Amino acid sequence: MQAAKMWGEERYWGLGYEWDPQWVLDDEQKDLQTQLIALCQKTLRANAIESDKGFVYPRKNFEALAKLGLLGLIVPKELGGRGQSHLCAAMIVETIARYGCPSTAMCYTMHLGATAAALFRHHTNPALRDILTRIDRDVLIGTLSYSDPETGSHFWYPMSSRAERVDGGWRVNKKASWTTSGGFADWYIIQTTSPDFGGDYSNLSCFLVKKDQVKADPANWDGLGLRGNQSGPISIEGVVLPDTGLVGPVGDGAKSNDEVVDPFFLTCSSACWNGIALATIDIAKNHTTRKTHADVGMRVADYPTIQDYVGEAIIDTNASRSYVYLAAQSLDALTGNCDWELHADTDYLPRSRMLHWLWQVKFFAAKNVSHVTDKMLHACGGTGYKPGLQIERLLRDGKAGWVMGPTNEVLRQFVGKSALLGFEVLDYWSQSVNQRVLSNELKKMSRDEKMAFANGLLSELQTAAAA
Ligand SMILES: Cc1cc2nc3c(=O)[nH]c(=O)nc-3n(C[C@H](O)[C@H](O)[C@H](O)COP(=O)(O)OP(=O)(O)OC[C@H]3O[C@@H](n4cnc5c(N)ncnc54)[C@H](O)[C@@H]3O)c2cc1C
Repeated sequence: MQAAKMWGEERYWGLGYEWDPQWVLDDEQKDLQTQLIALCQKTLRANAIESDKGFVYPRKNFEALAKLGLLGLIVPKELGGRGQSHLCAAMIVETIARYGCPSTAMCYTMHLGATAAALFRHHTNPALRDILTRIDRDVLIGTLSYSDPETGSHFWYPMSSRAERVDGGWRVNKKASWTTSGGFADWYIIQTTSPDFGGDYSNLSCFLVKKDQVKADPANWDGLGLRGNQSGPISIEGVVLPDTGLVGPVGDGAKSNDEVVDPFFLTCSSACWNGIALATIDIAKNHTTRKTHADVGMRVADYPTIQDYVGEAIIDTNASRSYVYLAAQSLDALTGNCDWELHADTDYLPRSRMLHWLWQVKFFAAKNVSHVTDKMLHACGGTGYKPGLQIERLLRDGKAGWVMGPTNEVLRQFVGKSALLGFEVLDYWSQSVNQRVLSNELKKMSRDEKMAFANGLLSELQTAAAA
């Protein structure tokens, strides 16, 4: 039987462990969770308020997390890390978002994604191994820089990027429209077209870039919520990287996306949205059980309407948590509990098979957080609308869930389209022709229009052949 949930010296004022799926955690993970809740109470939560008010990057929170060995959470023990699993990563992100600071939880999610991308291809790369072995000691914060200003949330399509082979290494150019921890991270995993891509945008490569090689302007960062996550634009302009700057083989980008970047982002960001939803339920419990209406002699929590709000919020959020933990457990089962040695075989890609499940997990968590934060604000009335109670901040933070790529509009398209028509129609890189649409459009043309169209195509082909 686990001891009661504490908040410093006091019993925790929100929901107790009886509403948490503690049975998915082993003793080591429960112990880590208890230590992390204590750290949130002592340090992270106060910094969350500071980050939100002043757009302050939560480096202080990362320093505290590093002392607990959490920057190397999924790094194998032989490299000095904690050797933990997908399940534990989800629990840690949820805990940071719920009891501590959602901006930190999002920066930490991106850090885990970058760490996974590094672990995926660390076997023969001394630069990656060097970072991984010093990650906690030197507080080396990593992040992922994928989104491109030309292609919006289609982060798998980096048009404003290029890489070329040069003597002793690689010259890399990239413009990124958003990068969590941009200008503050110590190391970045970025994606560009491959040196030999020849117009084929499915041919992508990953690179390791260090802090001093990145141009950022964090002073201009602004946003509705997650204000500490500093997700501004960055650029990398003609930087020459050593051989070890290439992460994995040339052309490894799509594998890296499907096998580590997406699985970790989708699982851990979903845990972040669940943590935010739970944080507002906790606050609503605390507030509505204390606030009384003297005319009727009742607490706000005594109204059945408020009980219904809270009941539904718990049911929906625990459904979302179950989804995240089930997915994380499945990833653990598929990978021998996150055994990175198995990836020495570069074609070992078990997580990729789960991707369509992870799309669903993220969609559900990001949808739920918007609904729950809204209802918990209603349950707390005008007091919830003011910053003091902190629901207002959490509601703004949770809004990032829906719009972060893959956005929820894109995800439900992916799921519906692939379920109805097969995975092959997803066509991420616009490579397959939709013959139905093409034939239908041609049908609408007059004879002269068809002739002009055919002539246009012919001259295009002749120009290409002559080039
Ligand atoms: C807080 C925050 C942190 C972020 N951190 C990072 C980061 O660390 N690294 C990173 O690489 N990126 C990051 N991003 C960027 C994010 O992943 C998206 O790329 C970004 O939010 C897209 O914004 P946009 O204005 O370009 O949207 P657009 O892509 O222009 O979308 C506009 C609308 O069109 C819809 N839409 C787009 N494509 C389709 C389609 N195919 N079908 C149907 N609807 C579609 C969208 O869903 C949306 O409703 C972050 C974003 C936020 C908000």
